[in-house]
Amino acid sequence: MSMNSLQDLFVQQLKDLYSAENQLIKALPKMAKGATTPELRKAFESHLEETRNQAGRIEQIFKAESLQGVPGGHKCKGMEGLVAEGSEILEEKGDQNVLDAGIIAAAQRVEHYEIAGYGTARAMAKLLGYTTAEQMLSKSLDEEAAADEKLTSIAEKYIYAAVPQNGK
Ligand code: FE
Ligand code: ZN
Ligand code: FE
Repeated sequence: MSMNSLQDLFVQQLKDLYSAENQLIKALPKMAKGATTPELRKAFESHLEETRNQAGRIEQIFKAESLQGVPGGHKCKGMEGLVAEGSEILEEKGDQNVLDAGIIAAAQRVEHYEIAGYGTARAMAKLLGYTTAEQMLSKSLDEEAAADEKLTSIAEKYIYAAVPQNGK
């Protein structure tokens, strides 16, 4: 695929986001299962639902804006790496609250990565005059920001207070 216009780049960015969301659809159930704190598990389960909707939204954008091609067929390597880092913490043994704090750290990196992706894609949609895409990308962006904030509040409310501060 050659990159000769912002339009070409926009399509490429959407494909990357689509792959990122689909990788997360597979990873989130594992993170929910690996979490000990019930509120954290619930947060992953509800974000899984949102994540499915976000992937669906990208499919809808291709249709609504009559974009060329399909959203699939590309692999987001950034998300692949972030999910791999999440898997590393899930394989660790130790204090349950420390492990939950580690899972949150990995999940927040994911959310920030998505926030960057959606923020950029939305700006491009706006420039290109894709109003429907802009609105849908805004919705996903808001959900990612809310998911990130939820993780911060779970960490502060349930986990950091219970975590051993040092190993001595
Ligand atoms: Fe997402
Ligand atoms: Zn990517
Ligand atoms: Fe997300």
